[in-house]
Amino acid sequence: MQYDLHSHSTASDGTLTPTELVQQAKAGGVDVLALTDHDTTEGLAEAAVEAARLELELVNGVEISVTWAGHTIHLVGLRFDPNAPLLQQGLQRLREFRAWRAEEIGRRLAKHGIADAYVAARRLSNGRLISRTHFARHLVEAGHAESVHSVFKRFLVRGKPGYVPGQWASLDEAICWIRSAGGQVVLAHPARYDLTQTKQHRLIREFKDLGGAALEVISGSHHRDDNQLTAQQAKAFNLLASAGSDFHDPKNPWIELGKLPPLPSDCIPIWHDWNEAVMN
Ligand code: AMP
Ligand code: MN
Ligand code: MN
Ligand code: MN
Repeated sequence: MQYDLHSHSTASDGTLTPTELVQQAKAGGVDVLALTDHDTTEGLAEAAVEAARLELELVNGVEISVTWAGHTIHLVGLRFDPNAPLLQQGLQRLREFRAWRAEEIGRRLAKHGIADAYVAARRLSNGRLISRTHFARHLVEAGHAESVHSVFKRFLVRGKPGYVPGQWASLDEAICWIRSAGGQVVLAHPARYDLTQTKQHRLIREFKDLGGAALEVISGSHHRDDNQLTAQQAKAFNLLASAGSDFHDPKNPWIELGKLPPLPSDCIPIWHDWNEAVMN
């Protein structure tokens, strides 16, 4: 079975609609797909329709932005009830911050001589939430940089002209929102945060103490060595292991859908008990 428990659609910063994403995942050989858009569950209903049609198992997912010790951290929530009010109120708050942040990014870029970026990013987002990725795509189209990656480096990360510090959920809040909606919580791409080893361990310890279930051991955005290292951390902290491509864009994939390497055999997959009947 091919599990891919991290992916994006046009509901956040992906370029495929939920329907197209499900179709491409199915074509790539994915059996179980989680749609995990940033700070929204808006794409899940559409994805579910196509998944049912193609007999692909869709897992309800979301990727929540968190501020922890001054760093932006991402949590993936899986298998929750998308109608849970606490979760939806929390996500709504993050989207309100995103809306303000997008205008602020636009103002800061304008001061730096790049006019109209907000309007363009908003247009690219099609009236849905605005991510830095939308700004990056516009800045490439407008000729300010060669690639999305170089836009981030030159304009959108800490210390650069269009950077606006995050005011996201606390770790505690985001874990509560997912768990109170009946879901499981995964620390997304743990090797991608710029943390000292001491801080990284503190993050994993707090994550686990607050009820986190798994580390994303296999991530499309990890280097191969990172997968190994994260597998060791999952074992050391007695956490389950998840796997996801973090797919955004077929033109620019970290990794193709359906091509994730397997979890190391000594990891316990987060899905190990998903098919067990509930015994009362
Ligand atoms: P946001 O949540 O709006 O701050 O945007 C974060 C998103 O930007 C991530 O989920 C990635 O999709 C994308 N991103 C962050 N850093 C980079 C980078 N260096 N190159 C390309 N995309 C990036
Ligand atoms: Mn993204
Ligand atoms: Mn992420
Ligand atoms: Mn992601």
